[in-house]
Amino acid sequence: MTGDDDARTTTRALATEAVHAGRDDLARQGLHAPPIDLSTTYPSFDSRGEAARIDAFAATGAEPDGPPVYARLGNPTVARFETALARLEGTQAAVAFASGMAALSAVLLVRAAAGLRHVVAVRPLYGCSDHLLTAGLLGSEVTWTDPAGTAAALRPDTGLVMVESPANPTLAEVDLRALAHACGSVPLLADNTFATPVLQRPAERGARLVLHSATKYLGGHGDVMAGVVACDEEFAGQLRQIRFATGGVLHPLAGYLLLRGLSTLPVRVRAASENAAELARRLAADPRVARVRYPRIGGAMIAFEVHGDPHEVIAGVRLITPAVSLGSVDSLIQHPASISHRIVDAEARRGAGVSDRLLRMSVGLEDVEDLWTDLDQALHRAAAGGDETPGHTVAVAAG
Ligand SMILES: *Cc1c(COP(=O)(O)O)cnc(C)c1O
Repeated sequence: MTGDDDARTTTRALATEAVHAGRDDLARQGLHAPPIDLSTTYPSFDSRGEAARIDAFAATGAEPDGPPVYARLGNPTVARFETALARLEGTQAAVAFASGMAALSAVLLVRAAAGLRHVVAVRPLYGCSDHLLTAGLLGSEVTWTDPAGTAAALRPDTGLVMVESPANPTLAEVDLRALAHACGSVPLLADNTFATPVLQRPAERGARLVLHSATKYLGGHGDVMAGVVACDEEFAGQLRQIRFATGGVLHPLAGYLLLRGLSTLPVRVRAASENAAELARRLAADPRVARVRYPRIGGAMIAFEVHGDPHEVIAGVRLITPAVSLGSVDSLIQHPASISHRIVDAEARRGAGVSDRLLRMSVGLEDVEDLWTDLDQALHRAAAGGDETPGHTVAVAAG
């Protein structure tokens, strides 16, 4: 649809794909910025042809040739983002949704529709992913295991194995190649939200499904909510059919912003990762800090535990934003046991390494010395038991 066939035959580096994929047809059309198509319906004087296109979609879920019939079937602006993300992840296709949770829901529904309701999953997962599986909201049944126990946990009705690496919020890493091997013919879903295709391409290691909360690094500016699954064309067709039937579509404006976000993804991830690696080094050497987790593959996320009260660190930051979510150009910090993983049963949460002292920081693009200055004064406050009021509190509150 986006005239990408020529590009697919050549190999281009990730940084090149980031700014060109999904846009290859633009110059021929005399355009530079991608058009935003807000149509909800598409006129056609050929209803016999429309019927054939609808039948074709019902058969395979392949994107209709020509314009979509109705926006729930597909959208050309969103399709550009899907094309681009698939090229970055090295998959045949990608299917976008209204949020990361809508994307995961669609995957579970595809498998449930095939009668494969059992899911094997490795903790920790993002809190709401854990909740969706544990509560069985979509009729699934979950067996929690560690990577080594995966093969033994598989059943004839297992439809999915799910893992995050690095995991939210502990940054625990899994050997994806070994895990994919243990899955046999059962699809492995790797949530690649934290690593992004800049640091890791799970499909190359055998994951059949690569999920993103595109709300995070792919959008990158804290202003788009979206999810996406990168996978082979066969599974993508099934996901499009579920998306059509259940309606969790991505808005075209969000598709536009995500495509724009992808163009700076490699630069953002590398710059933020440099900041994060430096902060992780300083935290690890700091006597007020009990423990630091920073992934072997790098990235812009840090997890750490303080000797003092973690709530005082949250209360004490002034430059860093105390907020859930991650992957924005600005730095965010949150307390997983209170927010992102609150919905997970406390014992299961602690068992997965999410202690009540753990803090998760998403490092942004600010100057690293400014970030350290802010962390340092927040750590000081936490170590002092929270009775130190920074002198500029009033000014910040007023601003
Ligand atoms: C945020 C997040 C999700 C959920 O995505 P939403 O866009 O908030 O629905 C899933 N997985 C991970 C790892 C996340 O961080």
